[in-house]
Amino acid sequence: MLGTILYGPRDVRCEEVPEPKILHPTDAIIRLSATCICGSDLWPFRGLNGVTSPMAMGHEYCGVVEEVGSAVTTVRPGQFVVGSFCISDNTSPHCRFGFQSSCEQREFMTGAQAPLARVPLADGTLVATQELPPDDLIPSLLATSDVLGTGWYAADAARVQPGSTVVVVGDGAVGLMGVLAAKQMGAGRIIAMSRHKTRQDLALEFGATDIVSERGDAGVDRIKALTDGIGADSVLECVGMKEAMTQAIRCARPGAMIGYVGVPHGVELDGQWLFFSQTGMLGGPAPVRRFLPHLIDLVLQRKIEPGKVFDLTLPLADVAEGYRAMDERRAIKTLLRV
Ligand SMILES: [Zn+2]
Repeated sequence: MLGTILYGPRDVRCEEVPEPKILHPTDAIIRLSATCICGSDLWPFRGLNGVTSPMAMGHEYCGVVEEVGSAVTTVRPGQFVVGSFCISDNTSPHCRFGFQSSCEQREFMTGAQAPLARVPLADGTLVATQELPPDDLIPSLLATSDVLGTGWYAADAARVQPGSTVVVVGDGAVGLMGVLAAKQMGAGRIIAMSRHKTRQDLALEFGATDIVSERGDAGVDRIKALTDGIGADSVLECVGMKEAMTQAIRCARPGAMIGYVGVPHGVELDGQWLFFSQTGMLGGPAPVRRFLPHLIDLVLQRKIEPGKVFDLTLPLADVAEGYRAMDERRAIKTLLRV
């Protein structure tokens, strides 16, 4: 079969790879309905995490179960499933507290930019639907696997409440999903920080009430002006760079929560400054598994359409162009047909 392998900076190839096999009795093999490229795939693509050996890329997936190991009991061949990018047993203590992304047996999914993929700990990781979903819902179901689940976690961690004022820092795919999540959670005001017209439009479509295109001091001033000088109740930090994290904290009112889901790169915070900001922070790799049943339900009931975040669709063979388009910000997120 064809699969996606990253060899080094800017060297991603679609090439012949062996089909995955059941390695452990708890594994499942799924045939993907579609797959996609994640913003986090761009870090190794850009050479920012050293790639020392060829890496099988892809961690967002949904599809039909082909085969299960002898110990798998909750999913069976023929079922449509979605799983998180974090593999978890869903039974260990952290899982039971809803932090499956810190599961004792955690692994990160790989090799999903391909027609077939092996999912370890299938019972804990995969969520099956009652029936095979219609084709037009595949992009939105795929989005629940990571990008929506991560944006949702940002909003949950930032304790978005009905009526609250929310700021979303970052207009990448996760930030846009954070807007959608905040809307679903009943936020009264959702201020999206974005300088790009197409992303601003999508943010408005997903439920943003205001757009702030300024950054830095000017951005903070705009947020303060929009919130009677108070600041936001909840801030979603969806970038992971120092400027974005600083922006997020400065836009938050004392007592606010900041949900941060951008993987930090070069972020350092001053302890005293943080102390006097009186803000709370919760972040990390999103425990998507906690939210999956609810998110899948919202998609199947057509209450949300997170699949709109895919603004480029390519065949798997053109995966390298998908990476380049996202790297150059020509595309928000690339869906790959397998
Ligand atoms: Zn991802």
